[in-house]
Amino acid sequence: MSDILDLGAREIARAVVAKKTSALEIAEDALARAHARDGAVGAYLTIVDDVAREQARRVDAALAKGANLPLAGVPVAIKDNMCLSGTRTTAASKILGNWVASYTATAVQRLLDAGAIPVGKANLDEFAMGSSCENSALGVTRNPWDLSRVPGGSSGGSAAAVASGTAAFALGSDTGGSIREPAAFCGVVGFKPTYGRVSRYGLIAFASSLDQIGPIAKSVEDCALVYEIIAGADPADATTVERPVERTLDAMRDDLKGLRVGIVREFDLAKLEPEVRAVYEQAYRDLERLGAELVEVALPTADYGVATYYLIAPAECSSNLARFDGMRYGLRVEGVDVGATYEATRAAGFGDEVKRRILIGTYALSSGYYDAYYVRAQKARTLIAADFNTAFEWCDVIACPAASSPAFEFNAKSDPVSMYLMDYYTIPMSLAGLPSLSVPCGYVTPSGSAKPLPLGLELTTPLFAERALLGVAYAYERGTRHAEKHCPPALEAVR
Ligand code: GLN
Repeated sequence: MSDILDLGAREIARAVVAKKTSALEIAEDALARAHARDGAVGAYLTIVDDVAREQARRVDAALAKGANLPLAGVPVAIKDNMCLSGTRTTAASKILGNWVASYTATAVQRLLDAGAIPVGKANLDEFAMGSSCENSALGVTRNPWDLSRVPGGSSGGSAAAVASGTAAFALGSDTGGSIREPAAFCGVVGFKPTYGRVSRYGLIAFASSLDQIGPIAKSVEDCALVYEIIAGADPADATTVERPVERTLDAMRDDLKGLRVGIVREFDLAKLEPEVRAVYEQAYRDLERLGAELVEVALPTADYGVATYYLIAPAECSSNLARFDGMRYGLRVEGVDVGATYEATRAAGFGDEVKRRILIGTYALSSGYYDAYYVRAQKARTLIAADFNTAFEWCDVIACPAASSPAFEFNAKSDPVSMYLMDYYTIPMSLAGLPSLSVPCGYVTPSGSAKPLPLGLELTTPLFAERALLGVAYAYERGTRHAEKHCPPALEAVR
């Protein structure tokens, strides 16, 4: 099998354009690798062999005619809450069953137009609700670093596909941390752009005021490359912004001289396990070594982030998921009348976490409670965003942990709140709509285990400052090279 698959997206595309290999050859290798490796990892719900081959032939034909394709032949995994015409799209829910998408999401279409080859549809927590992929109703995804641990979520399949080398990059979606947390758990880079930067057309909606598509890749540069392709206004999504997309690939910097990095006072590292804390302390020192000045900033309302999110996101989900009623898509369980059919379909089709969210959201929106819960949560959201604005008067970028721990074992978080708290560090940025990413920043080895587990440093900038964010992340990645220090054990075994 070709080692080209172990290269980054940029290098793969270069090799294809230079005719060192063809898109079809890479597609065949990627599919063979996905079939061979994915039994252990479970990153995919569906491997799309035919679509991949057909797209690869199209790419080779376009290249022969001189087309300029920045992702020529690059294998990509697509989170299964995004539509790819003609393929099963499930959101990892039984309620969608074997629903086949009749159209393609804008972000996915832009990748196809740039020459990317879809390998498969990646697993997720049902409707993207969760932080471990354990809420998937359709499959188990394991962390390639330690198969007894979760890959994170909700874009766990996407992150695991990249970490296990079956895709050069993946698309994920992030509502409260679902790109950044799994990227951190799987030792890869995960980037959530500013809300409204990437079209949500064709993304199965969870919480529409928060949902954002972004790349998960092996490097910051690959995230920048993919971002430039998928970002930008789309007439099919009214929340996309008209503002031109700045180039980011040419913003990669070698050091952090002159940069002020905000360290959030409320995110006290003393709350973390000592080994995890040591990794983050080192990460902050590395930022300084690369030339940045560390300044303390305050986000006094960030502690309300999780509570605020768990009113707004369920409220929006209760409305968005009303469409799954057995009439239009997927599963239908017949009842004696239409009401009974709705009820039986939704009772059988939704998993526990999704039902919990629908109940919380419906309650928060119901008359008599709307002002007390939903409106107050919206006010808290405004305060959180205002705190970030104040903090950014003092710094250019905020650095903090992407998650409070490395990947945990299956069934470790038995109560919902302990799972919700996994997004403590990512939710405030989502509520404020900010661009934010996770980049590998070190490893911890749990006692009694020989397996190092990656951790991620979360970097965040003001709205639409993607260019600055990616440039800073690149300098940190290049100045530390954490991703190169270890290889996921699941991969070593198959090499
Ligand atoms: N873990 C959070 C939740 O369950 C965030 C999910 C996401 O970003 N899609 O809602």
